[in-house]
Amino acid sequence: MTITTYYHPGYAAPIGDHVMPITKFGMVADGLAGNAAVRLAEPEPLTEADLRRVHTSEYIEAVRTGEPRALAESQKMSWSPELFPSVRLTGGGCLAAARRALEDGVSAALVSGFHHAHADHGEGFCTFNSLVVTADVLHAAGAIRRIAVLDMDLHYGNGTASLAPARPYLFNLSIYGNDYDRNQAFRDVSTVRHVDGSNHRSIALPNGSGRAEMLEAMERGLPQILAWGRPDLILYQAGADPYREDPYSPLELDHDDLRERDRRALAWAKEEGIPIAWVLAGGYTKDTSQVVRVHLSTFEAAREVFA
Ligand SMILES: [Zn+2]
Repeated sequence: MTITTYYHPGYAAPIGDHVMPITKFGMVADGLAGNAAVRLAEPEPLTEADLRRVHTSEYIEAVRTGEPRALAESQKMSWSPELFPSVRLTGGGCLAAARRALEDGVSAALVSGFHHAHADHGEGFCTFNSLVVTADVLHAAGAIRRIAVLDMDLHYGNGTASLAPARPYLFNLSIYGNDYDRNQAFRDVSTVRHVDGSNHRSIALPNGSGRAEMLEAMERGLPQILAWGRPDLILYQAGADPYREDPYSPLELDHDDLRERDRRALAWAKEEGIPIAWVLAGGYTKDTSQVVRVHLSTFEAAREVFA
């Protein structure tokens, strides 16, 4: 089968020299060229009405205009006039992939899910929370009754968790190797800096965790999603930053381990008969080709699972 994958050159705003390799989205798209299992498509941008379902008018206005600057740059990226159009497009990519997955069973967007973004400010390079905007737009349209986020980025998805309590139709599971709070990552996860709730749960991977610990966490976590209530759609954050060479990662996960993570996540959704759309999430290895390799291997896993 063909995996429709949403990409747009406008995803990348000019953010200067930044730890976040914004060129990676285009590099992944280039890496998919000629892949018969993948069809690249361009999404429509999110509307301001879509954004207002999740974010405050003051924050949206700040990102649009650049003022007040501290709020416009609360996600720790330099503001430019191109920022607002780019984050509307990336959010549109996530929404388009979610809609496509409801039709096809699987889809992807070459965007980040922006799981650190809160209602009234950004954090951790995340401007608007595309995962929750997608959940809200689909729920309001009656396209889904329940939706779950499986977040396997290295970092705890604190923004999504902050937005979950007001949304009984959303479940967030974050399997993380760095805790995250107020724009700060915490490598030592032995102290938990957040509180789980009935529809936002988390599982920490202790420093040094490898494949066995990761798969065990998935085996423990995935049934929690079904126990909460069978979702009509899974949004999967397939982060590249758990990779062992990533500067933030205290985990011992290599390319094969992350490919196995993706295969398990996708195969689980398929076996349960739940559509799944994935996004790329973080990845900061200095050699960006290693980040791109992690993201491309998710497509290999998907091709294997959905062949
Ligand atoms: Zn991350």
